[in-house]
Amino acid sequence: MVYRASWLKALFIRLNPEMFRDAINERPEATRVLFAQDYISYDASADKDNIGDLLANSFVEIIKMAAGLVDTDTLASAARQKQSDELKRRYGEYLLTEVEYTCAFPGCGRKLSIIHKGKVIHSYDIATIDKKKAPALENLLALCPRCYGLYSLDDDKKKVKDLRQ
Ligand SMILES: [Zn+2]
Repeated sequence: MVYRASWLKALFIRLNPEMFRDAINERPEATRVLFAQDYISYDASADKDNIGDLLANSFVEIIKMAAGLVDTDTLASAARQKQSDELKRRYGEYLLTEVEYTCAFPGCGRKLSIIHKGKVIHSYDIATIDKKKAPALENLLALCPRCYGLYSLDDDKKKVKDLRQ
Protein backbone atom coordinates (compact mmCIF):
# COMPACT_ATOMS: atom_id res chain seq x y z
CA MET A 1 0.00 0.00 0.00
CA VAL A 2 1.35 3.42 -0.93
CA TYR A 3 0.63 6.47 1.19
CA ARG A 4 0.66 9.77 -0.57
CA ALA A 5 -0.06 12.11 2.29
CA SER A 6 1.03 15.55 1.20
CA TRP A 7 1.53 16.75 4.76
CA LEU A 8 4.05 13.97 5.23
CA LYS A 9 5.90 15.06 2.12
CA ALA A 10 5.92 18.60 3.46
CA LEU A 11 7.22 17.32 6.77
CA PHE A 12 9.96 15.41 5.02
CA ILE A 13 11.11 18.49 3.15
CA ARG A 14 11.49 20.37 6.43
CA LEU A 15 12.79 17.37 8.29
CA ASN A 16 16.30 17.74 9.50
CA PRO A 17 18.10 14.46 10.15
CA GLU A 18 20.96 16.36 11.80
CA MET A 19 18.62 17.49 14.58
CA PHE A 20 17.56 13.93 15.16
CA ARG A 21 21.16 12.72 15.13
CA ASP A 22 22.24 15.42 17.60
CA ALA A 23 19.40 14.48 19.94
CA ILE A 24 20.74 10.89 20.00
CA ASN A 25 24.35 11.96 20.34
CA GLU A 26 23.50 14.11 23.37
CA ARG A 27 22.29 11.04 25.26
CA PRO A 28 24.70 9.58 27.86
CA GLU A 29 27.30 7.18 26.53
CA ALA A 30 25.72 4.21 28.37
CA THR A 31 22.41 4.90 26.61
CA ARG A 32 24.08 5.06 23.21
CA VAL A 33 25.86 1.77 23.91
CA LEU A 34 22.44 0.19 24.55
CA PHE A 35 20.97 1.72 21.39
CA ALA A 36 23.91 0.37 19.38
CA GLN A 37 23.49 -3.12 20.85
CA ASP A 38 19.84 -3.15 19.83
CA TYR A 39 20.73 -2.04 16.34
CA ILE A 40 23.63 -4.44 15.79
CA SER A 41 21.62 -7.23 14.17
CA TYR A 42 20.44 -4.69 11.61
CA ASP A 43 23.83 -3.12 11.01
CA ALA A 44 26.90 -4.90 12.31
CA SER A 45 28.93 -1.67 12.28
CA ALA A 46 26.70 0.01 14.90
CA ASP A 47 28.54 1.43 17.90
CA LYS A 48 28.06 4.26 20.40
CA ASP A 49 29.80 6.74 18.10
CA ASN A 50 27.83 6.15 14.90
CA ILE A 51 24.44 5.15 16.33
CA GLY A 52 23.13 8.73 16.03
CA ASP A 53 23.86 8.74 12.28
CA LEU A 54 22.47 5.24 11.76
CA LEU A 55 19.21 5.96 13.57
CA ALA A 56 18.79 9.34 11.86
CA ASN A 57 19.26 7.71 8.44
CA SER A 58 16.78 4.93 9.07
CA PHE A 59 14.32 7.44 10.55
CA VAL A 60 14.48 9.48 7.34
CA GLU A 61 13.96 6.35 5.27
CA ILE A 62 10.88 5.37 7.27
CA ILE A 63 9.39 8.84 6.79
CA LYS A 64 10.15 8.78 3.07
CA MET A 65 8.48 5.41 2.75
CA ALA A 66 5.41 6.55 4.71
CA ALA A 67 5.20 9.69 2.58
CA GLY A 68 5.06 7.59 -0.58
CA LEU A 69 8.40 8.92 -1.77
CA VAL A 70 9.43 5.28 -1.97
CA ASP A 71 6.88 2.82 -3.22
CA THR A 72 6.38 -0.07 -0.86
CA ASP A 73 4.67 -3.29 -1.53
CA THR A 74 4.70 -5.25 1.68
CA LEU A 75 3.82 -8.53 0.01
CA ALA A 76 6.66 -8.23 -2.47
CA SER A 77 9.13 -7.32 0.23
CA ALA A 78 8.00 -10.24 2.41
CA ALA A 79 8.51 -12.55 -0.57
CA ARG A 80 11.98 -11.09 -1.13
CA GLN A 81 12.84 -11.62 2.52
CA LYS A 82 11.74 -15.24 2.33
CA GLN A 83 13.81 -15.76 -0.79
CA SER A 84 16.83 -14.13 0.85
CA ASP A 85 16.53 -16.42 3.91
CA GLU A 86 16.35 -19.46 1.66
CA LEU A 87 19.37 -18.32 -0.35
CA LYS A 88 21.32 -17.68 2.85
CA ARG A 89 20.88 -21.27 3.90
CA ARG A 90 22.17 -22.51 0.55
CA TYR A 91 24.82 -20.01 -0.48
CA GLY A 92 25.39 -17.72 2.54
CA GLU A 93 28.85 -18.89 3.55
CA TYR A 94 30.12 -18.94 -0.03
CA LEU A 95 28.82 -15.44 -0.82
CA LEU A 96 30.17 -13.95 2.43
CA THR A 97 33.62 -15.35 1.64
CA GLU A 98 33.37 -14.05 -1.93
CA VAL A 99 32.95 -10.45 -0.73
CA GLU A 100 35.34 -10.96 2.20
CA TYR A 101 32.58 -10.26 4.75
CA THR A 102 32.17 -6.70 3.52
CA CYS A 103 29.13 -5.15 1.79
CA ALA A 104 29.75 -5.18 -1.96
CA PHE A 105 27.54 -2.20 -2.74
CA PRO A 106 29.61 0.59 -4.36
CA GLY A 107 30.60 3.14 -1.72
CA CYS A 108 29.32 1.15 1.28
CA GLY A 109 31.91 -1.28 2.63
CA ARG A 110 30.07 -2.09 5.90
CA LYS A 111 31.18 -5.24 7.66
CA LEU A 112 28.77 -8.15 7.25
CA SER A 113 30.01 -10.08 10.28
CA ILE A 114 31.35 -9.00 13.61
CA ILE A 115 32.46 -10.67 16.79
CA HIS A 116 30.13 -9.58 19.57
CA LYS A 117 30.64 -10.95 23.08
CA GLY A 118 32.64 -13.85 21.66
CA LYS A 119 30.01 -14.78 19.09
CA VAL A 120 30.06 -14.24 15.34
CA ILE A 121 27.01 -12.26 14.22
CA HIS A 122 26.21 -12.12 10.52
CA SER A 123 24.24 -9.12 9.38
CA TYR A 124 23.58 -9.32 5.64
CA ASP A 125 21.06 -10.18 2.97
CA ILE A 126 21.44 -11.84 -0.40
CA ALA A 127 20.42 -9.73 -3.36
CA THR A 128 19.63 -10.97 -6.84
CA ILE A 129 21.81 -8.74 -9.02
CA ASP A 130 19.66 -8.93 -12.14
CA LYS A 131 16.13 -9.25 -10.76
CA LYS A 132 14.77 -10.50 -14.09
CA LYS A 133 17.06 -13.52 -14.02
CA ALA A 134 16.99 -16.61 -11.84
CA PRO A 135 18.65 -16.43 -8.41
CA ALA A 136 21.55 -18.63 -9.50
CA LEU A 137 24.87 -18.38 -7.70
CA GLU A 138 26.55 -16.11 -10.29
CA ASN A 139 23.60 -13.71 -10.06
CA LEU A 140 23.78 -13.34 -6.26
CA LEU A 141 25.61 -10.94 -4.01
CA ALA A 142 25.86 -10.44 -0.24
CA LEU A 143 24.93 -6.90 0.83
CA CYS A 144 24.39 -5.21 4.19
CA PRO A 145 20.66 -4.99 5.15
CA ARG A 146 20.53 -1.29 4.36
CA CYS A 147 21.96 -1.60 0.83
CA TYR A 148 19.84 -4.68 0.25
CA GLY A 149 16.73 -2.69 1.16
CA LEU A 150 17.71 0.19 -1.11
CA TYR A 151 18.70 -2.08 -3.98
CA SER A 152 15.45 -4.05 -3.72
CA LEU A 153 13.51 -0.85 -4.35
CA ASP A 154 15.75 0.29 -7.16
CA ASP A 155 15.69 -0.79 -10.79
CA ASP A 156 18.57 1.29 -11.98
CA LYS A 157 20.31 -0.45 -14.91
CA LYS A 158 23.62 1.22 -14.14
CA LYS A 159 23.65 -0.20 -10.60
CA VAL A 160 23.00 -3.66 -12.01
CA LYS A 161 26.11 -3.21 -14.15
CA ASP A 162 28.19 -1.89 -11.23
CA LEU A 163 27.23 -4.82 -9.02
CA ARG A 164 28.03 -7.32 -11.76
CA GLN A 165 31.64 -6.20 -11.57
ZN1 LIG B 1 26.00 -1.80 2.27
